[in-house]
Amino acid sequence: MTIRVGVIGTGLIGTDHANKLVNVINGSTVSAVTDVNRARAEQVAAELGPDVGVFDNGHDLIASDVVDAVLICSIGETHAEYTLASIAAGKPVMCEKPLAPTTPECEAILEAEVRHGKRLVIVGFMRRYDPGYRQVKATLDAGTIGAALILHNVHRNATVPESFTSFMTMTDSMIHEIDTTRWLLGEEITSVQVAPPKRTSRAFPHLQDPQFALFGMESGVLSTSEFFANCQYGYDVRCELVGELGTASLVNPVVASTTTGGQDVDAVPPDWRVRFGPAYTAELQAWITGLRRGEIVGPSAWDGYAATRVTEFGVQAVRSGERVAIDYIEKPAIYR
Ligand code: NAP
Repeated sequence: MTIRVGVIGTGLIGTDHANKLVNVINGSTVSAVTDVNRARAEQVAAELGPDVGVFDNGHDLIASDVVDAVLICSIGETHAEYTLASIAAGKPVMCEKPLAPTTPECEAILEAEVRHGKRLVIVGFMRRYDPGYRQVKATLDAGTIGAALILHNVHRNATVPESFTSFMTMTDSMIHEIDTTRWLLGEEITSVQVAPPKRTSRAFPHLQDPQFALFGMESGVLSTSEFFANCQYGYDVRCELVGELGTASLVNPVVASTTTGGQDVDAVPPDWRVRFGPAYTAELQAWITGLRRGEIVGPSAWDGYAATRVTEFGVQAVRSGERVAIDYIEKPAIYR
């Protein structure tokens, strides 16, 4: 069975995902696309193949008989609307992060999915499919380094556009560390504090860059997170988990290497598309393989809600500099 996916939003990541669903992933095709920029959707459809329909809007696409599953890659403000419509249509849906920008929108999605009675939604937290992160998790789960004590995260990006704000550090970037922290440690984040370091001279004056956050976990484990939006040198993600008996560190993949003059020089990935390209592929493949078996495989709507909840409190922490406690609604049974 081939899963016919309808893609909402044919911008950067929507186009990347659509290409993979047609050309790389086993068991899927793209049957429909839509974007508010219709010309762009038409261009992407033409590049994907002759049988890809271009729809006027996301709701018509979700309702269409040619769509078995929905992939939401439009801007974050549209995610709740299209996720809710997909649940109402009883169709599996993968929503790029964030599940929605606000907690009330995420809670509406949880309520709709619970009313539906079983999971339909996954959220695009692709780092869970990165071999480095998976190895750190496997090492912790095997007991090799004993109980977790501290998690250190680093997330560096070469440059950002002027429109990037100090709050987006939390909502757009650290949301990935928030998800990997919850997933690696298997517990919720219960507090956040943000301590701004000395600013780089290479950022726009309005932007606090780099940014540094401290997340407290239910068990008392601390997770540190540096986000450096304009580090200049490339895209660099690091993760080290300190346990009672040792440490486990993510090893970045070598994307290219030069040996000359008595030195090995490894290239740093230029951006997130190169660094996490294989993780996006693995995430899509896991989703499609699951759908073909009648299963929903991937981070849940609860994971999306919890991440958004932390970013909301994280924005408060950016404003105040204080340690902010985080609480959650009760976790519905279908997510336990
Ligand atoms: P993008 O290049 O701006 O693409 C978004 C597209 O959605 C644009 O073409 C936009 O059109 C369109 N759009 C806006 N409103 C729409 C609507 N109501 N219906 C249909 N299409 C609509 O952004 P992107 O970088 O691809 O990001 C898209 C989403 O993916 C964001 O939520 C982002 O956070 C997420 N993302 C996740 C990752 C990850 O690592 N998991 C990486 C990148 C992006 P206009 O430009 O005309 O507004």
